[in-house]
Amino acid sequence: MGAGSDPSLMQTTATGDGETFTISGRKWLITGADGAAFMILMARTTVNGVDVGATMFMVDLPNPAIKLERLIDSIDSSFTGGHAVVEIDKLVVRRSDVLGEIGKGFQYAQVRLAPARLTHCMRWLGAAQRAHDIAVAHARVRPAFGKPIGEHQAVGFALADNEMDLHISRLVTLEAAWALDQGSRGNEESSRAKVIVSEALYRVADRCVQVLGGLGLTADTPVAQIFREIRAFRIYDGPSETHRWSLARRIIRRTKHKPEARDGNQ
Ligand SMILES: Cc1cc2nc3c(=O)[nH]c(=O)nc-3n(C[C@H](O)[C@H](O)[C@H](O)COP(=O)(O)OP(=O)(O)OC[C@H]3O[C@@H](n4cnc5c(N)ncnc54)[C@H](O)[C@@H]3O)c2cc1C
Repeated sequence: MGAGSDPSLMQTTATGDGETFTISGRKWLITGADGAAFMILMARTTVNGVDVGATMFMVDLPNPAIKLERLIDSIDSSFTGGHAVVEIDKLVVRRSDVLGEIGKGFQYAQVRLAPARLTHCMRWLGAAQRAHDIAVAHARVRPAFGKPIGEHQAVGFALADNEMDLHISRLVTLEAAWALDQGSRGNEESSRAKVIVSEALYRVADRCVQVLGGLGLTADTPVAQIFREIRAFRIYDGPSETHRWSLARRIIRRTKHKPEARDGNQ
C-alpha cells in the first residue's frame, strides 16, 4: 500500500548527487499506467545524503526498470488503462528528467490538484445528471399500486432531493472554477467542492438505483456503473475526511485572533 492520505509516508526514493538519481519503490492504484507513454513519478529525494523533499520526475514508458506488477480489480471501470501496481527497481534518471525544481514536488502537486478535482466534479456531475434523467423517465411510467411510482411521495421526494443535490453540486463547482479564474489557487474552494460534490452525487446515484429497483442493479441501464464510479470519487484526490480536516485547520487558523468564547460572551 502506498502513502495514501499522508504523503509524508511516501516510500519511493530518489538518491543521487543532483545530476543523476536512482529511483526505487512501489506504487499502487496508479491510474492509466497500462499503455501510458510517460509517467510523472514522485519520489522522496536525497541529494548527497541530504533529504530535500519530494521531486517529480518525467519518465518515458515502457522502461525496463519499471514493471507493471498487476492491474487491480476495482469498483470503478471508466479510466483508460485501469489502476496498476507499479514496481520501480533502480531506475536511473538525470537532472534533465526533473519536472521543475528538485524538492518542489508537493508544491507542484498542490497547484495541480485544485483544477484536477474540478474536472472530476464536472465529469461525475454530468454522469449523475444522466442517472437522474433515467430515474425520472422510469418513475413517470413504471406503475405500482395503481399509479406511476413517481406519484408516490417517497419516490417523488427522492427525485426532488436529487435535483437539490445536483443544483448545489453545480453551484459549488462553478464557485471553485470562478475562484481559479480570479487567479486564486482555489485550494479551499476546491476542497469544499470536492467533499460536497462527491457526497451529494453519491446520494443522487444511490437514489437513482433505488428508484429503478432491480433494474438499477443491472447493466441494462448505465445507472449501476455510474453508482460505482461515483463511489470511488469519495476516495481519490483526497478522501472526504482529509479535506474536512484541512478545512477545519483553516477555520481554526482564520479565527485565532477572535475573542475566546466564554459564558455570557458568545
Ligand atoms: C480509483 C482510484 C484511483 C487512484 N489513482 C491514483 C493515481 O493515479 N496515483 C496515485 O498516486 N494514487 C492514486 N490513487 C490513490 C489515492 O490517492 C488514495 O487512495 C487516497 O489518497 C487515499 O489513500 P488510501 O487509499 O491509502 O487510504 P488511507 O490513507 O489508508 O485512508 C483510509 C481511511 O482513513 C481516513 N483518514 C486518513 N487520514 C485521515 C484524517 N487525518 N482524519 C480522518 N480520517 C482520515 C481516510 O479518509 C480513509 O477513509 C487512486 C485511488 C483510487 C481509489
